[in-house]
Amino acid sequence: MNQRIAFERGEVPVALSGWTKPQGTAREWPMLTGDSAADAVVIGAGLAGSSLALHLADAGVATTVLESRQPGWGASGRNAGHVLPLLRDLKLFERFPDGGKRFLELFRQHLTIPFDLSAKHGIDSDAVRSGYINGMKTRKAQDAFLRQHAYLEQAGIQRSIALDAAQMKERLGTTAYPFGVLFEDGGRVNPYLLTNGMIETAARLGAKIHGNSEAISLERVGTQWRVRTAQGSVLANRVVFCTAAYPTDIEPAFQRAFYPLTAFALATAPLPEELQSVVIPGGGTFAQAPIDLNPMVRDRHNRLILSSIPRRGRAYDAQWHFQSQLAWLHKVWPETRNVPIELESYWTGRVAMRDAQFPGVFEVDSGVYGLMYFNAWGNVLAPLMGMLVAQGLATDTMHSLPFPLERAEPVTRPQKQAWLIQDILIPLARTAQRLGMV
Ligand SMILES: Cc1cc2nc3c(=O)[nH]c(=O)nc-3n(C[C@H](O)[C@H](O)[C@H](O)COP(=O)(O)OP(=O)(O)OC[C@H]3O[C@@H](n4cnc5c(N)ncnc54)[C@H](O)[C@@H]3O)c2cc1C
Repeated sequence: MNQRIAFERGEVPVALSGWTKPQGTAREWPMLTGDSAADAVVIGAGLAGSSLALHLADAGVATTVLESRQPGWGASGRNAGHVLPLLRDLKLFERFPDGGKRFLELFRQHLTIPFDLSAKHGIDSDAVRSGYINGMKTRKAQDAFLRQHAYLEQAGIQRSIALDAAQMKERLGTTAYPFGVLFEDGGRVNPYLLTNGMIETAARLGAKIHGNSEAISLERVGTQWRVRTAQGSVLANRVVFCTAAYPTDIEPAFQRAFYPLTAFALATAPLPEELQSVVIPGGGTFAQAPIDLNPMVRDRHNRLILSSIPRRGRAYDAQWHFQSQLAWLHKVWPETRNVPIELESYWTGRVAMRDAQFPGVFEVDSGVYGLMYFNAWGNVLAPLMGMLVAQGLATDTMHSLPFPLERAEPVTRPQKQAWLIQDILIPLARTAQRLGMV
């Protein structure tokens, strides 16, 4: 595929992602060949499919994973590394079984799941509960943010801790955002390593993992399903699609049930020594409010990972996007102006959005499910929902999960969100930032 198109679609090789560096891409899993059988087949090995496979294997369910490329190739190997322990819309839970009580309790217990799974299974994914800090320029913006997130505390999910100018300076090393709100349970993770660590763990627990094995057809065989790939097939009782924003044409229901949005991310080379005590010395994940144009993480290699939405038609343009992030860095940390910061990696990936601010768990036929559309907060919700769906499959309770099983309805204008965000909101926000308004 033409490189420019690959950047526009978020389909550049995952080896470009900073998360594959410096350790390199993970081991390659073998292609499926010949006919086999399993209890459950998981299609797609991102954070959702990998967590699902790990928890299915842990529960003793004979599981086969089919991945078109290799685990972590999709959004999960390309994201910005923020662990966001939040829910966006509590109202939505009113239509959940028991008004969402069970789900909210599970969320409360597991909102640190990337850290917990990494610790439990010895996954070396740089998962650190370093806090999620939102910075604001004015008290008014801080008040509005606190009001907007008050529901989290009311529901007993997460405290919103207001930070003053001195605390912000201590954590971030800048006076540019004198007001802040901290969520202590947030932090960072290398999502590529987490995905591959979960897949390795699933394999250790008995799951069969196949890379370069695109699922190309699904046919009913009595009460079972046969999934075919180019060189083999698996006969299974249950099939779960975890294909998110990268669906192929095997299951039409999952091709048009979401709004795709391409995002970019970049990693700088490790910060020069003199900047290490200057830029985010406290190590937290940093976002800005009311407009989060420069979400930023500092990882264990002291690299800065920044991300946003690319300019229309310019997703390939690493330098343009790097320079615009660098200009912001220079403004926020003036000490960075005279010290060279190099671009190490630049890549794009595709997010899958829905109208609802919650991922979808779908049933397309008896025994055929989908788990996907995690928008830009998959690092917590994808492993969590993978775990919960695995429990549903392992105990045959898919119809009494703590969230609704839905039909995958096509959205009417799939490009709507990209148009709104990429063509209207982000350019307006960039202009406002240039003029010093945000
Ligand atoms: C640039 C960017 C920044 C982001 N930042 C954050 C962040 O900071 N924090 C956060 O929480 N979230 C973030 N997200 C969102 C997060 O990455 C996603 O929500 C999450 O990775 C989705 O995981 P998934 O398993 O659903 O999908 P994916 O990781 O996309 O996996 C889907 C997989 O399915 C495979 N597949 C498709 N069709 C087939 C088939 N027919 N057969 C076999 N395999 C198939 C694909 O190859 C792919 O590997 C970001 C996303 C992007 C792109």
